[in-house]
Amino acid sequence: MGSRLGVLVEASSLPDAARVTEDVILEVERLARILSTWGLEGEMQRVNAAPVGQASAPGAELAALLAEAERYSRATGEAFDARVGALVDAWDLRGAGVVPTEIALTRALHATSTSGISVDRLTGVTTRHAKDAWIDTGGFGKGAALRSVARLLEVREVDRALIDLGGQLWAKADALHPWSVHIAHPVWRQRPVARLEVYGVSVATSGTSERFVEIDGIRRGHILDPRTGRPVPAWGSVTVVTADPMEADAFATALYVMGPIAGLAWAELHPGLDALFLVTQPRALAATWTRGMQRWLVDPPSTTAAETHLPTTQAGDQL
Ligand code: ADP
Ligand code: MG
Repeated sequence: MGSRLGVLVEASSLPDAARVTEDVILEVERLARILSTWGLEGEMQRVNAAPVGQASAPGAELAALLAEAERYSRATGEAFDARVGALVDAWDLRGAGVVPTEIALTRALHATSTSGISVDRLTGVTTRHAKDAWIDTGGFGKGAALRSVARLLEVREVDRALIDLGGQLWAKADALHPWSVHIAHPVWRQRPVARLEVYGVSVATSGTSERFVEIDGIRRGHILDPRTGRPVPAWGSVTVVTADPMEADAFATALYVMGPIAGLAWAELHPGLDALFLVTQPRALAATWTRGMQRWLVDPPSTTAAETHLPTTQAGDQL
């Protein structure tokens, strides 16, 4: 998945902790093999390489994940859409980056729609209709892997665990012994701006300050708006807290695409989905969050502190 995995486990004995840790690593590896679109010859790659017009019926696990991703796409009005593969190629987001011609953009947008690649919402059976269409698991893969890990931890002798998969967390704990989690400034990632105390939930953040390509001097993030076919302009970051890690991953990406205003309104309508929006402004940081987020937010973002400490430029930082 091109990510780092951090495993922190508290168990009653060292051998127990070591065994669980190893099983967590193996479980993440297993999911990565199924879901990877980065050269590993897995099941997702086979679906993505299937001939145009030929329906692929992936194994039960992948089929269920694809069907689920399809439901998130509908639920978010296509702000989340795993079909974005053709757009990732059109903007060369995995390479040096390029601005596509209008014709190339139109073609990639078509490939990103249901007429480019269709996924049955119930069975996950996938059919490519356009030759450049493919499914990018980047927006939900970490969440899917974390959910598998969460299920594994449920049945093991573990008191507390904090699993960090490329910045998305699964926090196993109870209300009396929550995990303390710092939320970083969307641009100056070393700087914590808020603190949560969480248990039994996943924490996922989407933003574009860490992963981007620079084209013609303009930074384009790795999150695309499937409705326009264009990278979402950098506005900050959104952190989502939900009990289901896959939901957290997909909805964090979706809320980033929707933006802080539409995103906040959308999140408020979805009970159990708590979100914190950090919006960068010229010399300040604005923060908004859903009512449900209050429950986890121990140290809310202090926008005035962010303001007074923000230098206009800082060597070595990504602006
Ligand atoms: P990260 O994986 O860096 O934590 P996200 O969860 O927000 O960040 O996922 C971003 C990745 O998802 C992109 O790198 C790309 O592979 C894919 N992607 C980009 N835009 C979308 C989108 N609108 N819907 C679904 N997946 C997307
Ligand atoms: Mg995501």
